[in-house]
Amino acid sequence: MDFSLTKEQLELKQEFDDFFKEEMKSAPPEYGSGGLEAMYGTDAGSAFHKQMMRKLGDRGWLSLAWPKEVGGQGASLTDQFIFNEVRESYDAPGVDIFGIGMFAPTLIIAANDEQKARLLAPIRKGEVSYCQGWSEPDAGSDLASLQTLAIKEGDHYIVNGSKIWTTGAHRSDCMFLLARTDPESNRGKGLSVFHVDMNTPGIEVKPLLYMDGSHLYNEVFFKDVKLPAKDLIGVENEGWKVTRETMNFERSNVGFFVKGRNVLKELIEYVKTTKRNGRFLSEDQIVRRKIAQLSIDLEVGYTLAEKIIYLQQEGGLMFAASAASEAKLFGSELMQRISNFATEIMGLYGQLERSKWAPLNGDMVEIYQFCMGINIAAGTSEIQKSLIAWVGLGMPRFK
Ligand SMILES: Cc1cc2nc3c(=O)[nH]c(=O)nc-3n(C[C@H](O)[C@H](O)[C@H](O)COP(=O)(O)OP(=O)(O)OC[C@H]3O[C@@H](n4cnc5c(N)ncnc54)[C@H](O)[C@@H]3O)c2cc1C
Repeated sequence: MDFSLTKEQLELKQEFDDFFKEEMKSAPPEYGSGGLEAMYGTDAGSAFHKQMMRKLGDRGWLSLAWPKEVGGQGASLTDQFIFNEVRESYDAPGVDIFGIGMFAPTLIIAANDEQKARLLAPIRKGEVSYCQGWSEPDAGSDLASLQTLAIKEGDHYIVNGSKIWTTGAHRSDCMFLLARTDPESNRGKGLSVFHVDMNTPGIEVKPLLYMDGSHLYNEVFFKDVKLPAKDLIGVENEGWKVTRETMNFERSNVGFFVKGRNVLKELIEYVKTTKRNGRFLSEDQIVRRKIAQLSIDLEVGYTLAEKIIYLQQEGGLMFAASAASEAKLFGSELMQRISNFATEIMGLYGQLERSKWAPLNGDMVEIYQFCMGINIAAGTSEIQKSLIAWVGLGMPRFK
């Protein structure tokens, strides 16, 4: 594997860097500690995110690696990786993790020509945002057991049921929904994928406040919601196959390691300038060793993310599920370890947010709280390990 960048790639990286440096000067203050919280948690953060989506869309940067036939730039996955890396280094919004990150690649693989023409253009231009309607109160890790029904009646489907933990549903224009179209079926058989306009009558979104009080997550209820049959993606009752492919787009996760590097940089500055018992924290052997170890772990994680790009380039848009699971598992747990360590060395003051007494403006405690959910979201650590054992290492599948 050769990861050195060509002259053109270095120029592209500089172009991305110049853009985000300039644009982030006008970002609302909430973009200091966590992009996702800022994107969905406040009106100003959400408005800035949507404005940025359009700017990135205008430049064609939301569809860099999409094939040209569907309106993309046809750029390499390395160019896409460079874009993600630079954007994450500024903690910049503008990329809808669900629309761009999951639904668009799914449409490219599974949608018919009419759907590609109708649904991909607004995503690529940054005009619409999506949320992910998969999990239900009794179907998370065991997603295939979901119960929300979508029953065909003429040229429509009637949807009844509910979804839970739907990130950003209260700020999204659309949802990609997984529902049971064959009520007699069980598990993966009889499921289908739909594009849903969130303004359709009968959809109710209720907030599910996070432990720090932020509103990022929701419950979504469907009562006799009428969906046009043209919004079924792929073949009826074969949505599980489509969804398994979508899952692979959720887990490349270079963001963890870029974000981790930024956080560690801040932390190193903090320990070099903060005294405890008469000496700088950076002189404490335990602190030094711990930071050195976290730094090594970050570089290991970065290599895992680069390995995914390598595998993707070898095999096209999709990548090896096992490598994706490795990066998700390692990255989410590493972010928890970094923020846990940061709040530990800050002592009681480390629990303060938005106060003049809060070290590093309370960023570390915010990241600590935010990170609690990330090794559950998008497949828990146990599920990732199970996938690595089964898909990656060829052990029998756990049932
Ligand atoms: C912050 C956050 C954001 C989310 N955003 C979304 C979203 O936008 N859209 C969406 O659809 N969903 C979303 N989710 C839901 C998420 O996908 C589920 O929470 C996750 O898949 C786990 O499901 P569960 O909560 O039902 O837990 P369970 O599946 O009930 O798991 C409970 C525990 O049992 C363990 N476990 C379960 N099965 C196994 C097994 N086979 N082997 C070993 N251990 C097992 C799990 O690892 C876990 O520790 C989000 C969740 C979080 C926390």
